[in-house]
Amino acid sequence: MALTELQSVLGCNVLVLNKYYMPLRIVNVKRALCMLCRELVEVISYEQGQYYNYDFESWLDISKLRRSFEPHEHDWIATVNFHIAVPRIVRLLFYDRLPRNDVKFNRRNIFARDANRCQYCGKKFPTSELSLDHIIPKKMGGKADWENLVCACTNCNAKKGGRTPKQAGLTLIKPPKKPRHNPTVHLHLSNERYHSWKQFLDHAYWSVELT
Ligand SMILES: [Zn+2]
Repeated sequence: MALTELQSVLGCNVLVLNKYYMPLRIVNVKRALCMLCRELVEVISYEQGQYYNYDFESWLDISKLRRSFEPHEHDWIATVNFHIAVPRIVRLLFYDRLPRNDVKFNRRNIFARDANRCQYCGKKFPTSELSLDHIIPKKMGGKADWENLVCACTNCNAKKGGRTPKQAGLTLIKPPKKPRHNPTVHLHLSNERYHSWKQFLDHAYWSVELT
């Protein structure tokens, strides 16, 4: 396995459910496999329209089969003795607390809410080329909250200066709101790897905290 390939596998995300199949958070593969080894979680695997549960041993068995018959349909972690398929979803066997119903107010979640799009010109940018803009500038009493902070590109930010959008002749592409669910998770859904999450994320009550 090439190094870059290994890194991309270690960068895979795993959705963690509580015992009642409610999404709690997203962890990296390494953490998920540690929990699996310690038998704190089981793997939930989506196969031909159905979800199946596997403990560590049976996940190793099924990994062996998949490695022989459908090696290209999975991501793999190689150990000295065997290959293990990267799980997409794990379920905590003993955790029965409910998910927190709150989205953290932070930079990452604002970028995710706005899908890395400048909220003035509507164009998409890499995170490094975006900054957070106070719609009503701070010095005019604008707060740092979900309704007053948006992503803006360098150009629009410069154009706006310390003014309100109206004063600067700019219009927001949509009014910013507090997201009901963790927006970064929805970004993952566009990746085919994580399609099996959808079923669990569609529940109205879910909320995920990133760790
Ligand atoms: Zn812009």
